[in-house]
Amino acid sequence: MHTLYGKLVAALFALVTLISLIYVVLTVTTTRLYLQEVNQKLNQMLAANIVAETPLLQGGKVNHAAFEGLFHSLMVINPSIELYVIDAEGVILSYNAPLDRVKRDRVSLAPIRAFIAGTEEFPIRGDDPRRPQGRKVFSAAELREGDRLVGYLYVVLGGEEFDSVARMIQGSYILRLGVGVGLASLVLALIAGFWSFNWLTRRLRRLSAAVEAFKQGEFQAAMRLSSWRRGLGGDEIDELGVTVEHMSQRIVDQIHQLRQADATRREMIASISHDLRTPLASLQGYLETLLIKESALSETERHHYLDLATKNGKRLSQLITELFELAMLESQGAELHFEPFSLTELVQDVAQKFELEAERHGLILETEIPAGAPFVSGDIALIERVLENLIENAIKYTPEGGRIRISLVLGPGRIAARVSDTGIGIPEHEIPRIFERFYRVEKSRGDGPEGTGLGLAIAHRILDLHGSLITVESKLGDGASFSFNLPTAA
Ligand code: ADP
Repeated sequence: MHTLYGKLVAALFALVTLISLIYVVLTVTTTRLYLQEVNQKLNQMLAANIVAETPLLQGGKVNHAAFEGLFHSLMVINPSIELYVIDAEGVILSYNAPLDRVKRDRVSLAPIRAFIAGTEEFPIRGDDPRRPQGRKVFSAAELREGDRLVGYLYVVLGGEEFDSVARMIQGSYILRLGVGVGLASLVLALIAGFWSFNWLTRRLRRLSAAVEAFKQGEFQAAMRLSSWRRGLGGDEIDELGVTVEHMSQRIVDQIHQLRQADATRREMIASISHDLRTPLASLQGYLETLLIKESALSETERHHYLDLATKNGKRLSQLITELFELAMLESQGAELHFEPFSLTELVQDVAQKFELEAERHGLILETEIPAGAPFVSGDIALIERVLENLIENAIKYTPEGGRIRISLVLGPGRIAARVSDTGIGIPEHEIPRIFERFYRVEKSRGDGPEGTGLGLAIAHRILDLHGSLITVESKLGDGASFSFNLPTAA
């Protein structure tokens, strides 16, 4: 009963019962009224004809002999008819029924007048003298002596009619047949209703079972409603099924993403604390050594320890700065200031900035810029950061005597920037991971230049915010070449 199917069946049952009741009551009432109408119409002239044929009054009194004679002949023809002679006020003067069965001494004149005047639609029902509250169809005619109205002949038609619906149905074969056929069709309608509701709710039950299974399975696998009709030909339930299926796929994807994000977050916290702890511990160590052995240390030794402590302090500060930078870039509210700027000028400025450092490392830093490059659109400070990171890396990972080249290539609607070097290169299998935060090839390379493993992650994120990609071509021992492109300003 708590299921949708149960409720639909109960509603159908209640509806069908109500309609059946209305149908029976309506049929019986209209049949009864129709019978009364026909009876009254057929006998409309009966009272008038009797009055015309039989002198019922004589000298203002009822002619009992004539009345008895009339009564006997009518009894033979139609025993259900009752005759009453009433005066002009409606008082019953004489009748043909047994004495004790007449319960009224007068009848209302209004229906009789309406009948004679023909002002009302049939059936017109007048008082039934045999029942204090009863009303029946009748025929009536005026009794006159000369011009004077002295009374009425009041003929009650149909005798004792069926008083209750049950008795009426019992008494009529046609009605019984009608009610029987009606009931049979209702039963058939109920059966058809049960079957069709069952058929219609079957998919909802399947859907609910699938959702339940999805829940039981901890949202691991998306729902598959294979026989579900999709697109054209499907109704609302089909649509619901397809939507729920899509939704389940989304839930599965998002749970998967959440789990991955959670794993990444744990990994990140672990590596951040590790990366922060190492320089911090060294810094502390050197400072403690200085404190403990202060007097025993020579000037050069003291200077050496202070130098190491400063280096670790710097490294710590760089790590924190870059972490903060990445967190800002990855937060939802990262603010970018897009503007048209000259990539040519930017590249020249950045190259100039690194010229001395490259020289110090015994490297040649050169640029290759075609003339007439249009402005590009982007956040100039962030793009400068990308170029700096790429050039810093190139300097870091290129041995003395190498060459670093920054070039621009004009394309349709875009300008590509490329930073390439002749350095140690990147092993092919490491390439897909170098843009991950904290990922350093050096961990597997063993000793190498120092770094945070955040530079490329920051560059990647900045270009991501520009709707662009950073790509790398490299071979171990054969240099590396990083490229990205930006749209030209409108
Ligand atoms: P890091 O601070 O270690 O340089 P990055 O995110 O900038 O971190 O780079 C990640 C890794 O990619 C580096 O550890 C390095 O091994 C490799 N890499 C980046 N640039 C170059 C390059 N120009 N040549 C060779 N290896 C590179």
